[in-house]
Amino acid sequence: MLGTDLEIVLHKATGEQRREKPDQDNLGFGQFFSDHMFVMHWNREKGWHDARLQPYQDFSVDPAAMVFHYGQAIFEGLKAYRGKDDQIYLFRPRENLERLNQSALRMCMPRVPVDRTLQALKALVYLDRDWVPDNEGATLYLRPTMIATEPALGLRPSEEYLFFVINSPVGAYYSEGFNPVKIYVEDTYVRAVPGGVGEAKTAGNYAASVKALTEAQRKGYSQVLWLDAVERKYIEEVGTSNIFFVINGELITPPLGGTILPGITRDSVLQLGRDWGMQVSERPITIDEVVAASEDGTLQEVFGSGTAAVISPIGELRYRDRSIVINNGETGELSRRFFEELQAIQYGHREDPHGWRVRVG
Ligand SMILES: *Cc1c(COP(=O)(O)O)cnc(C)c1O
Repeated sequence: MLGTDLEIVLHKATGEQRREKPDQDNLGFGQFFSDHMFVMHWNREKGWHDARLQPYQDFSVDPAAMVFHYGQAIFEGLKAYRGKDDQIYLFRPRENLERLNQSALRMCMPRVPVDRTLQALKALVYLDRDWVPDNEGATLYLRPTMIATEPALGLRPSEEYLFFVINSPVGAYYSEGFNPVKIYVEDTYVRAVPGGVGEAKTAGNYAASVKALTEAQRKGYSQVLWLDAVERKYIEEVGTSNIFFVINGELITPPLGGTILPGITRDSVLQLGRDWGMQVSERPITIDEVVAASEDGTLQEVFGSGTAAVISPIGELRYRDRSIVINNGETGELSRRFFEELQAIQYGHREDPHGWRVRVG
């Protein structure tokens, strides 16, 4: 079960199995994939087995595989950064694997052996080190994923799983500047309910969210801010990011109560805020409190936190017929400070007092 003795076989891509490198200036997000992938299989009898670093390739999966029917699928997202010293770093990767295992527990899926899987992640990134972009802000995004592969239509946990990791070179999120986004406060659809699967990074949560997202985008907003499903009043998170408010000097984010994703960037922002001597609160916050703070002039900044964008400043919240403009629609000082500090740690340009950075190779 611990799998520390799991053997990992290496099949290096041959010349013709190597993939064409995309234009570094037009990477976008998740459109290109690197030369190699990591794959391992699980069944009841053998546990995790047949672990391989191999050329990126198609899977052959039975059409009755349970993932296609009942959606047992979980994933993670983390990045590899190339520093000015040409070293490659991962940011808190162990946390991603531990969170994957929390998602696995919720979805009745097997846990991965954290140490061994971390070794595989590092070996994979090292193998594909030429795919880690070197322009400022660009990274290699890693997508660990687990799916249920047993061919069976009776509803129960699958007894066979596939775990894989693919890598995608992605562009700088803020290639056009660190500019605030406009967010739609969603009060029709909900993302997660108490007792549900909101705190798991499981595929169905994202499938369930795209209708609200497309409707918000049609109205000119880039993401939705989710309210709680019971009272439609407490703020939860924004799109696939956690959310922070700065009100009268207090840094506020909603508590982890089972319906929001425990973001690793969220945790890092909280830690930095405490390091900087700020008043930091994980507490329930309602949309009405935000409206009131906007009206009395104490709402200073709002930003999202997540691996993809690190920090995304929010310049406007649309709630029913009301438009809440934050900091004149400009990026706030603290949003910028968190962004710069986190990026500098991720790229190895600054000291790393909490040991968040993991060198590859
Ligand atoms: C992944 C994710 C986050 C952010 O988590 P990070 O670990 O900071 O990348 C926040 N909310 C949702 C819904 C997510 O899927």
